[in-house]
Amino acid sequence: MRSHVANPEKEPMSRDWSREDVSTLKGVGPKIQEKLSRLGLQNKQQMLFHLPLRYEDRTRITPIGSLQPGQRALIEGDILHSAVSFRPQGRSRRVLMAKLEDGSGFLALRFFNFNAGQQNALKQGRRIRCFGEARLVMGAMEMAHPEFDVFDPDTPPPLNEHLTPVYPVTEGLHQLGLRKLMQQLIAQLDQQGLPETLPKSWLEQQQLPEVSTALKILHNPRDQQDVALIQASRHPAQQRFIIEELTAHRISLLHKREQINAMNSPSIRPDADLQQALLDSLEFELTAAQQRVSHEVMRDFTRQQPMMRLIQGDVGSGKTVVAALAALPVIASGYQCALMAPTEILAEQHVQNFTRWLAPLGISVVSLMGADKGKKRAVKEAQIKNGEAQMVIGTHALFQATVDFHALGLIIIDEQHRFGVDQRQALQRKAGDGVMPHQLIMTATPIPRTLAMSVYADLDYSQIDELPPGRTPVNTSIISESKRAQLIERVQSACDAGQQVYWVCTLIEESEVLQCEAAEQTFENLRKQMPGIAIALVHGRMKAAEKEQIISEFKNGKVQLLVATTVIEVGVDVPNASIMVIENPERLGLSQIHQLRGRVGRGRKQSYCLLLVKNDISRQVSQRLEIIRNHQDGFIIAEKDLEIRGAGEVLGTRQTGEVGFRIVDLLRDKRHFGQAEALADLLMQPEYKTERQKLLDNWIGRKAAYSDVG
Ligand code: ADP
Ligand code: MG
Repeated sequence: MRSHVANPEKEPMSRDWSREDVSTLKGVGPKIQEKLSRLGLQNKQQMLFHLPLRYEDRTRITPIGSLQPGQRALIEGDILHSAVSFRPQGRSRRVLMAKLEDGSGFLALRFFNFNAGQQNALKQGRRIRCFGEARLVMGAMEMAHPEFDVFDPDTPPPLNEHLTPVYPVTEGLHQLGLRKLMQQLIAQLDQQGLPETLPKSWLEQQQLPEVSTALKILHNPRDQQDVALIQASRHPAQQRFIIEELTAHRISLLHKREQINAMNSPSIRPDADLQQALLDSLEFELTAAQQRVSHEVMRDFTRQQPMMRLIQGDVGSGKTVVAALAALPVIASGYQCALMAPTEILAEQHVQNFTRWLAPLGISVVSLMGADKGKKRAVKEAQIKNGEAQMVIGTHALFQATVDFHALGLIIIDEQHRFGVDQRQALQRKAGDGVMPHQLIMTATPIPRTLAMSVYADLDYSQIDELPPGRTPVNTSIISESKRAQLIERVQSACDAGQQVYWVCTLIEESEVLQCEAAEQTFENLRKQMPGIAIALVHGRMKAAEKEQIISEFKNGKVQLLVATTVIEVGVDVPNASIMVIENPERLGLSQIHQLRGRVGRGRKQSYCLLLVKNDISRQVSQRLEIIRNHQDGFIIAEKDLEIRGAGEVLGTRQTGEVGFRIVDLLRDKRHFGQAEALADLLMQPEYKTERQKLLDNWIGRKAAYSDVG
């Protein structure tokens, strides 16, 4: 029953705004039209849904004394003095500085670009109002390039009655111009209305405003009491659109998944004997969590649909063996399995494990890396093409154009956040036209359930939430630079006692070159400081063979101390390593530190992670590092990391680059995830097809919603 269909007589006169070109607005000529189209705004419907990013409050005057750094505010005061000076660095650029006071404090105004008119206007004794962002510069409040108006103190101009919306704009299209166009549009909306896109019963139940009302409030906030709510993005009109956008994203992912479900996928028969043979050969028993997840994978194979499963498990939780178990029935059914890892070190380690596990079962394991060239590569590619290679393991090399699979049945992606969607798709296409291979995507990055719902709605989700037995928690401490000598002594004596140590170098810049140089420098220093110890260096700019050689010497104990860049972050497994030193850990995200730390604590010995920090770290940095020190659970660390750094950083590019929310802030709007999930489920009912499409049109656009399967 469609209870939300209101009596047609009560519907306002409504029209289809998407049929009306922006050029039908007054003041929009070809030039403005071109600018608007750069913002993706072609018709009035799109204009209406171009919502303000934030609001400026010019409805009241803020006393200087109560200004907070970062606050954007309207200030009124008298100019105490103003002067033009030259910037010290020898460059002949002039700076206009004015000092403003209002009885509660002083505010400096700084202008780098100014004209004679502005300079004249800011003469001593003038009363001005200015609007800008306050900053604290050497202990004093300051605004750079504020907007300002000089006025006669006897006749102060009226204050704005409403919040001023701030829109996303583009070069050549200014706030003021866009605001005027929006006012025009809102006046039309007032008369014409816009058909509601969401079920009215749902809106009523949630006590959220209808679309026209909500749009009017957001483009033109009028009610004074709303200011605080709107500034906090908690006004019901904002909530309505936040939920809409979340819902639209979820629906678009669910659509994508429906399309995938409808595609052909290799048909896989379970093979209990083969599975048992592998289990019998292992030197350990699977944990209950590994068994459960492996079972979930097997159940996917019995469905006549492509598997799309994300497996999350903390570092060391044993994802690899679960992947190996998944490969077995695929290979037994006559298909190939491809495992892709982000680094050669990690891929090489998988090659060793899979060879050890699968070769005795008669399965051929072939590796393909970037370093495979010429004849060697040709031979491997031929084996992949003719199907001789059953288990294919490699790096980015796997999805290159020259690689052709005989019958690709399963793709396993390790450390998925290191790969882009396009790279996964390139590999998917190797299964052949119209065929979607099964996919298993592995990550150590915990994804809070709430996030998973909006960002990974197209994937099924399994979690290995248990570590193999016998692991001792890593003891983590923060050590300041002034104790470096003691730290080196400690490392030295650990090595003397037969233990192994990682020494990880990090760098602020995104530059791999500099990071490698820093590691080289540290390596040289440590070699001098610990002459008796076998020290080696591994970094991203070394040849693959060289890296492998060093890692294997570390694995077999020939190397006692391994100096490394963050290349070792993923996957290296050396149980005898019991100390990890991380230099300048503040440069890394918490989850990244946690993953690095997971390289130790793999044996039975008590392990240590020593965070070597500068002497003068800020309170904020030390608070962050405390989180690492006090928590072993990757989930909690990720949640905290999320709070500090935002979702984009924690989960990689998926939502920032590829999904890209317009008004949703995943962290701020967490409380709406549940509502969006329920609304998406409602709208996925067949009778809401029109509403669903409208929602996607408004928030995602046809292209984004319907292209790029997978
Ligand atoms: P990750 O989930 O980080 O990829 P791995 O698959 O590399 O973890 O496993 C980490 C280590 O734990 C490996 O040495 C692996 O052989 C071992 N391992 C995996 N499962 C178990 C288990 N059930 N019991 C004991 N050791 C295990
Ligand atoms: Mg792993």
